[in-house]
Formats: sequence, structure tokens, C-alpha cells
Amino acid sequence: MAFTGKDNIQEIKARLSIVDLARRYLDLRPMGNRLVAPCPFHQETKPSFSINESEGTFYCFGCQAAGDIFDFYSRINGSDFRDTLEALAEETGVVLKQYQGKDGENTTKQVSHKSEMLKMHEIATAHFQSNLQSHAIASKYIDGRDINLDVRERYSLGFSLDAWQSLTDVFKRSGFNLDVAVECGLVMKSKDGRYFDRFRNRLMFPIRDVNGRTIAFGGRVIPELDDGESAKYLNSNGTPIYKKSQQLFGLDVARRSVTSQKNILITEGYMDVLALYQFGYMNAVAVLGTSFPDEQVKRISELAKHVELLFDGDAPGREAAFKACGKLLVRGISCHVVLFPQGEDIDSLLKEQGKEVFENLRQQSIEGLNFCIQTLKQRSPKDAVEWARAFLEQIEMPELFQPTATKLASGLGIDEAELRLGVVTQKRSNAAKNTQGGQSSPRESTSNSPRKTRDAQILTVAARYPHRLISLQEMGADLLLESPKARHFWDKLSQYSVEEILVFLTDAEKLFWVQCRSADAPPLDNEEGELLAIQHLIKSIQKKSYASSVAAALSQGSNNYETQREYMRALIEAQGRNNVQ
Ligand SMILES: [Zn+2]
Repeated sequence: MAFTGKDNIQEIKARLSIVDLARRYLDLRPMGNRLVAPCPFHQETKPSFSINESEGTFYCFGCQAAGDIFDFYSRINGSDFRDTLEALAEETGVVLKQYQGKDGENTTKQVSHKSEMLKMHEIATAHFQSNLQSHAIASKYIDGRDINLDVRERYSLGFSLDAWQSLTDVFKRSGFNLDVAVECGLVMKSKDGRYFDRFRNRLMFPIRDVNGRTIAFGGRVIPELDDGESAKYLNSNGTPIYKKSQQLFGLDVARRSVTSQKNILITEGYMDVLALYQFGYMNAVAVLGTSFPDEQVKRISELAKHVELLFDGDAPGREAAFKACGKLLVRGISCHVVLFPQGEDIDSLLKEQGKEVFENLRQQSIEGLNFCIQTLKQRSPKDAVEWARAFLEQIEMPELFQPTATKLASGLGIDEAELRLGVVTQKRSNAAKNTQGGQSSPRESTSNSPRKTRDAQILTVAARYPHRLISLQEMGADLLLESPKARHFWDKLSQYSVEEILVFLTDAEKLFWVQCRSADAPPLDNEEGELLAIQHLIKSIQKKSYASSVAAALSQGSNNYETQREYMRALIEAQGRNNVQ
């Protein structure tokens, strides 16, 4: 990625340490000279994730995730590099210079376009909030639903007036481009070119990203103001700043609690999240929409180890819970299903019957796999077996395969061997792929163990002591690099400083860099020794290649007696020197 924001990257790193950032999500503990925690990027209980504070890098022994502060932020928030750079710049007060995207195209315009959209959402949030305060019926409705002031403010609840030009006028006065407001889905444009408010006469729930920035809205009709013609809910559509499948309502509020408890409550509605928060459950979020997209499952799996699905007890609620269980369980996330009695939701239950009744329901929750079995038993045996087989095939953690298969078989009352018939586990299919790959290209499989190759030996020293690159070059180290990938990595080493290089590395290069420089690699106190060793290696390679070229020349034959003698002398000399080593 070529861009001209190198200084910005260093500035951000100087202002925000990776430890301070990671602490927001992880419970870091010291171990030796490192800080460790269970990895947020794969399911585990052991602390495989470690941070090298002086390097500003992280590394996981389990899933091999590696990188710097930007990688950490991107991975944990599911944001791309550009968004990460913007967010961290904003947080640290660094003013970003113009930078260019991968193709060299100027992205400044896009950046300002997105920030304009965010600004509009921020203004709309404040506008709706002040509407709510002054609107008697809406305020009364909120009071009637027992939503206290703290909750109202924490979730920035608002109200859109029953007017065509209310928000549009605010945008106009602030000098915004109304076409961008249309793109945001906050304003609409009529055929004759007039702009008008899209959300009218609704209770407004700001949908915020994990950093608390409003990126969309959900609008709900208030029964007292219902004209009977409007849909109960009206939500923002996808925009450059909002992808529904990636967001969870309330995650900005719940994140801290979720990452510390490793437990998350998933509900179906905004009101449920608010009610739970009011009753002291800080770890609740709502899915936006009825499906449970893989991106949301992935995001949850990075934050929590256990999920409680709080769904309606009706048929659609059960079906949604069944699907969600399947998706969570294959990823190794344990889950329980809490079903609410027909016609009852979390909000009404908590407020009318109290926390104890809710806690009782939680106690009676059904473990995820048992819930799946219960659901499958109501289907035809053929469907049940088909589902179970497809489910088993998707299990990501090999150690879970056997116990899950056993439990499913006994739960469904079928023979385990029969159930497993034709099921290809992830592990086996991966192994099969590897074998095939190994047979067709043995070269590639050896290059999978980079530490053993000559390129890797040279690059290891180069990555550990980049300030000695010139000496290595003088030894001819770069000329010995065989693979184009290795040469490309060397170029980056010579081009970028230690502080900025990570931004320019591919994932594989990052991993290599961090491993070479991690606290678990030999300590960086034998620089001269390591350099001497690589010099030794370089010399011996050079001599071998010289000797082999002489030998080749000899075997090709030369009729000239003098030339032959000269070659022989050189060969003996070269071999003699090799033998000394
Ligand atoms: Zn990991």
C-alpha cells in the first residue's frame, strides 16, 4: 500500500501505545517480560496472545495473528485500514495528511465524504434528542415505558418530529450537501427536486459503531401517534458508513462488559437492550434484522466465549434461535437459549414481573446443542440427519467433533456410525488438501517452514537488526535471496523504518517480522554473534556456488590444458576453504 501518511502513522503510535489500546478489550497479565491474555481472535482459555510493548506489536501462538496497533484495531473492530487510521487519528488528535489508496487513487475525497456522513449523523442524533425533550407525547411515552433518564442518555434516544423539513432545515442551515444527506438515508428527494425528512413522527434509536459514532438510525412508531399507515419500524439502509450485517445494536455500550465477562446477551430488539441495561445487564446487544449473518457471528466470537440468546418464544423466535445456535456452536462458542413466554418480551417481563422472574428463566435456559436436538426431533428423521451431518462438517475445532457427534446421535436416537457416514470433518478435509498439495508441489511444502530455508535465515537476521542491513548487503546477503517474495521483503526492509514498516507488510510478512523480533525469539543481545554466523553462512554458500560452477565448467570440458589446470586449482582452493569451515 503506497500512501504518503508515514509521519501520521508514527505520530499515532507515539501517542497511543498498543498496551493501552489492547487493555480496553483484554485482561492483560504480565508473564516474564511480556503481557499476555487469551487471544481475542480465536477461541481459547489459555493466554496465547502476547504483546511486545517495546516493539508495539502483538502475536498469538495459537492462531498466528500478528501485527501492530493498526492491525489490532482493524481486527477487533472489523474495520479496514483507512477507517482504522481515521479512527485512531481522531482519538489521538493527529491531523491526517492526504493519503493514497492501493491503486494510487486519491482517497481524500472518500475520506471527507465518510466524515461528512458521520458528521450528519452526529448532528441528527443531537437534533432528535432535543426533539424528544420538548415533545410532550413522546416524552410521556418514554416515561410510560419506564425508560429512565440514564438509559435515555446512554443510548441517545431521540424523536423525529411530524414535519417534512425539520432535519432537512438543520442540514441546510449547517451548509451540508443535501444529496449526501439523501445518500445517508436521512433525507429524501422528491421528483421535483425538493428535499424532505425521511424519519418522521418516530422514536429514534441511533445505531452506533463500536466506537460510539452514530452510523444509522432505527425509527419506531409511537402507538399514541400512529396513523395506522406507517410501518412499525423504519431503519437506515446500507451506506458507505453502515453495513447492517457487520453491526450489532448496543455493542458500543456493551463491549467493555462483554470482553471482561466473556458473555453476551443477544436479543431481537432495541427496547430489549435498553430494558436489560436499565436492570443492570450491561452486556446486551440486539441483532439488526432477523437473520444472524456470519459477520456478526464472527464479531461475537472475537468478543465472547459464551452467548445467551434471548428470543421470543413464538415460532419465528424459536427458528431464529435454532439457526443462531448452529452458527455459534460450529465456531466453538457455547450458547444457551432463553425463550420468553408467548406474547412476552424482555422489556415487559423485566418491568412487569421483575428481575427475579427473568433470572428464573435464565436458570431454565436450554443448552444450545440440546435446543438444536429438541428442534430437530420435531422434523422428519431424514431432515434431522441431513442437518446434523451438515452441522458436523462445519465444526471448526477438531476436538469438538467427537463429543458433538456422540451427543447428536444419542439425542436423535440414531446410530453414531451411521450419522458420521459420509461426514468430512474440517480437519480431515484440510489434511487431504495438504496431502494433495504436497504431492503436486513438494517445493511449496518445504517453503512452508520458512525458518529452515536460506532465505529465511538471512531475512531473520535482517528483520532482527534492520540497522545492519548495509553490512548484510556488503556481504552480498541480498544477492543470495532465492524467492521473489524474499527479495520483496528485503526491499521493504531497506525502504521503511522500524516504526512504520508494519503498515507496509503483508499478513505473512507481518507474522514473520513479529516472530523474529518477539520476546520469545533469542534475545536481541547477541547482535555481533548472529551477524558473524550469517556471514559464515553467506561465505559458505558463495564458495559452494563458485565450486559448483567450476565443476560444471570442468565437466563441460575444455581442450585447453592451461584453462583446465586453472579451473582445477580454483576448485581445490575453494573446496579446501570449505573444508576449513
Ligand atoms: Zn489467536
